[in-house]
Amino acid sequence: MNAPLVVATSIDWAAVRADFPLLTRLVHGKPLVYLDSANTGQKPASVIETVDDFYRRHNANVSRAVHALGSEATESYEAARGKLARHLNVRSDDLVLCSGTTFAINLVAYSWALPRLQPGDAILLTRMEHHANIVPWQLIAERTGAKIKVAEITPDGTLDLDALYAAMTSDVKVFGVAHVSNVLGTINPVREICREARRRGIVTVVDGSQALPHMAVDIPSIGCDFYAFTGHKMCGPTGTGALWARKEHLAVMPPFLGGGEMIKEVRFDGTVFNDPPHRFEAGTPNIAGHIGLGAAVDYLDALGMANVAAREAELLAHLLEEMRQIDGLRIIGTAKDKAAVVSFLVEGAHAHDLATLLDLEGVAVRSGHHCAHPLMQFFGVAATCRASLAFYNTHAEIEAFVAALLKVRRLLG
Ligand code: PLP
Repeated sequence: MNAPLVVATSIDWAAVRADFPLLTRLVHGKPLVYLDSANTGQKPASVIETVDDFYRRHNANVSRAVHALGSEATESYEAARGKLARHLNVRSDDLVLCSGTTFAINLVAYSWALPRLQPGDAILLTRMEHHANIVPWQLIAERTGAKIKVAEITPDGTLDLDALYAAMTSDVKVFGVAHVSNVLGTINPVREICREARRRGIVTVVDGSQALPHMAVDIPSIGCDFYAFTGHKMCGPTGTGALWARKEHLAVMPPFLGGGEMIKEVRFDGTVFNDPPHRFEAGTPNIAGHIGLGAAVDYLDALGMANVAAREAELLAHLLEEMRQIDGLRIIGTAKDKAAVVSFLVEGAHAHDLATLLDLEGVAVRSGHHCAHPLMQFFGVAATCRASLAFYNTHAEIEAFVAALLKVRRLLG
């Protein structure tokens, strides 16, 4: 993990876990061992109650009604934007709330890149990107005549920085990079990479989906142009997230979607658009969801992201140690800087069979390509199993998972 120096001893992690109601349930008659937080995180009661309270007591549309409920909804919605902004050390006005990373990257692609790119330009992406940071760029490349270039990785799942900098040639106009890989767990040195890209005049788009759940992120210190993320992996509701962008980009970007909320005045002979961030938030947003995301940020801030990182580093070390007992185990992604995400295969067993049998033991892991086909192609596999941890997991769960894996391994021969 991102080198937490002090292991948090002052936090009662059992009490923290008790904040997550779902973690007490049984699956197939066994206690649930939830190791799929990279897919979506579980929610603390405070988030669930905040969403519930919104619908029970405050439900109204934002920015439209002057009545009391409308004002309350708008205030809470904008307060959530403020909480996120403080969490990331950015200005609220530079934070576009949206349905998550997929929307956020499409917004950059269609609103920033589409009008700018032309034949002869290149879009640079890394081998370890999620499809959400590949496919929108392919669509833009098709429409503009720009081409896609790929920055390769080394066999341990680290970005090859020499190759990356060599690939930052003068035709590259935009570079997309995951802060943390959802498959490998690799934590990319985004600060250094973005500095190098900016020195060459390349605009940087960082996909922070897998970073925000695990570590403190200070966007200005990264020095990127755009930072996209999703709320549901960081204890928030699904359908939430944001795009942070440098003010100078937002100021010149045309709207991506048209509709209500994103205008100042509409006439049939022309429309005056609203200022950012509202210019990019057409229609009724996910009000309750974002207010819930604000509660998730409160929750994480109270825990302290340094404590979260320290806890997860301790759990990851234990997981990797325990997994050494498995014969024929192949871990995909062994970078030195690694978040608590472990992709693996067991010789002779298909990833889906492993995940299905583990599920019968109450253990939830993901199997598949993890929306990262190019990465699977690099490693020459169709699918992997992935165990991903969060601070609410326990050492006992890690042992239960490995015991279940040993049992499943025996069953599969
Ligand atoms: N980028 C990464 C690295 C991810 O892990 C994910 C989700 O798994 C996404 C993007 C897409 O996020 P969403 O589906 O919330 O838009």
